[in-house]
Amino acid sequence: MFRLINVDGHAALEVDGHYFDLAALSGDPTLADPMVAVERHAELHELSAGCASAIASGQLAGVTLGAPVPAPRQVFGIGLNYAEHAAESGRSLPEAPLTFTKFPSCITGPTTDLPITGPMVDWEVEIVAVIGTEVSHVAVAEAWGAVAGLTLGQDISDRGVQFSDSPPQFSLGKSFAGFGPTGPALVSVDAFDDPDDIGLWCDVSGERMQEGRTSDLIFSVPTLVAYLSSICTLYPGDLIFTGTPSGVGLARGRFLAPQDELRSGADVIGELRNQCVEGVGPLSV
Ligand code: ZN
Repeated sequence: MFRLINVDGHAALEVDGHYFDLAALSGDPTLADPMVAVERHAELHELSAGCASAIASGQLAGVTLGAPVPAPRQVFGIGLNYAEHAAESGRSLPEAPLTFTKFPSCITGPTTDLPITGPMVDWEVEIVAVIGTEVSHVAVAEAWGAVAGLTLGQDISDRGVQFSDSPPQFSLGKSFAGFGPTGPALVSVDAFDDPDDIGLWCDVSGERMQEGRTSDLIFSVPTLVAYLSSICTLYPGDLIFTGTPSGVGLARGRFLAPQDELRSGADVIGELRNQCVEGVGPLSV
């Protein structure tokens, strides 16, 4: 198993509170690039095991991590993928994965500030599947094999932009800079007792807003990978935000404000902590 992290733009492995610069550990400077590291995820298991007898590059505490996958080619978002969230949204269950994009420029690290771009900026904690191998038309039974690992993400949404018109504007409303916090690590699939049953939660300024398990996903990770790959070729580093449990702000009539702290967590993967700050809304045209 491995935990791949991004330290100052350099790929590193996390082991027991320390980080190991991948280029130094492997003697291969090309592995410094986090996107190359994701593509060569199969090598990371052995490199991670070798950390026990290697000298660490530093302590994890005090390091500000970047996005484990900072420059994905494609970022897929899945809507209404938990039954209780579909119900709170007043929607029936989708018959196929309801898919939009978060434009890749919105992807940031686990502790970046979150700009509040309007009065209806909302949280959506989600498990994010990271593609490890180029695939098209992969079968459901083979689909976990195309996944490098899992990370945690927030599919931040400006509901004012998203629902400004009909039909709605999902992709732009979810793509302001900073609207895709991810991390803290990309964790290999074999690190989970059951990768189809991962607990996740989200707190806003200390109040628990969301709590769920991926065993409640309507479309599981392998089903999503198989379905998306039947339409789009999937590439190493592509992200799939798998959908959010119930408890979003839209259903509560409560949204994020500057000074709120957004904390999100998932079993095994770890936590995101994002401080809300004043942001700038879209241009009026
Ligand atoms: Zn979402």
